[in-house]
Amino acid sequence: MKISEILSAWYKINARLLPWRRTSDPYLIWVSEIILQQTRVNQGLNYYLKFSDRFSNVNLLAEASEEEVLNLWQGLGYYSRARNMQFAAQQIMNDFDGHFPDTFEKILRLKGVGNYTAAAVASIAFGEAVAVLDGNVARVLSRLYGITTAINTGAGSKQLQALADQILDHKDPGTHNQALIEFGALQCVPVNPGCENCPLQQHCIAYKDDTVRSIPLKLKKVKIKMRYFYYALFEHDGYTYIHKRTGKDIWKSLYEFPVLESPTLLTDEEIIPSLISFLNIKSDDVLIRSISDPVKHQLTHRTIIARFIHIELTSSEFKVPADWLKIPKETIGNYPLPRLIDRYLEERW
Ligand code: SF4
Repeated sequence: MKISEILSAWYKINARLLPWRRTSDPYLIWVSEIILQQTRVNQGLNYYLKFSDRFSNVNLLAEASEEEVLNLWQGLGYYSRARNMQFAAQQIMNDFDGHFPDTFEKILRLKGVGNYTAAAVASIAFGEAVAVLDGNVARVLSRLYGITTAINTGAGSKQLQALADQILDHKDPGTHNQALIEFGALQCVPVNPGCENCPLQQHCIAYKDDTVRSIPLKLKKVKIKMRYFYYALFEHDGYTYIHKRTGKDIWKSLYEFPVLESPTLLTDEEIIPSLISFLNIKSDDVLIRSISDPVKHQLTHRTIIARFIHIELTSSEFKVPADWLKIPKETIGNYPLPRLIDRYLEERW
C-alpha cells in the first residue's frame, strides 16, 4: 500500500470527532485553523464553539467591534491572530463579495494566512491538491524519510514541502492532509511515538535506523528576553484607571493598568519611588496599600515578571494622562485584558 493509503486507513479508525470536521463551510474551517495555530485541540475547542456561535458567518465577524472579537479571544494568546482574522473577514466582504476565496492563491491573500492555512482550507473545503506542512507534518515526514536537515530552516522546509507534495493523494487531498496532521498529533508524537503499533513502521527510516529520538532536528531557539512590568492598580471611590496598549508590541489593543516597564528587576525599595516618578504624581496624593509578589508570565520569546502595586488615591486633584480611562472597578471584565492581568484579578480582586 502507498503511504497515503495507509494514512487514510489509519485516519478512518482514529480521527477525533471534532466540530470543524463535520462542516464543509470554508469560513468555519478557516476559523478552526486560525484558532488551532499555536494552540492545543483541547484548549482551542471551546474557543471554536464560542466563536462559531457568535460569528457564524463571515459578515458577522467583519462587522463586529474589535473589542468584542478580542474579548472572545481572551486567554488564547497571540492576539494578532484575532485582529488579523477580523481584517481578513473585512477583506472577504470587500474584495470577494462576501464569498470565501476558493483557491490556495486567493486564500493566501487574506491577512494572517500563510502557506499552511491556505493549503489546509483549499484542500479540505475545495478539494484543491495542495499539501500542508506544519510542525506535526514536518515531524512525521522527517522521521519517515530520515531527514537530518533542521526543520526550522529554509532548506529543511523546502525539502519537507517537496516530500509532502510527493506523497499527497490528489484524489482526496483534504482527507490526506487531515490524516497526516492527525497522525502527527496522535501517533508520531514528539516524545515516545507509538512506533510499535505504527502502520508506517515498514516505511520509516528513523525507525529502521533507530534515530526516532533524535529526529526532527531543530536549530537552537532564540534567547528568551526578560521584561519587568510594574502595574499601578489605582482605587478611588470604587473606580480604577486602565489604558489601551498601542504601538508595535505585545498585546496591542488590549487594556491594562498604567504600567512602568523597567529594563531590570527593581528591588522592593526601588519600586514605589520609580513608579511615583514615572506616573508623575505627588507622594502625598497616594497611599500604597500593597505590592504583590512577582507574577511570572511566559510568552514565546519573552518572560514577563510583573508586580501589581495597589494604590489608594487620597486626592481628587489627581490629573491623569489623556489616554487613561476611569472605569468602575467591577466593569473591568468588559475590556479585553492580557491573560496575565486577567489571572491576577481572578485571584486578587
Ligand atoms: S514508526 Fe515511529 S517514528 Fe516512524 S512514523 Fe511511525 S510513529 Fe513515527
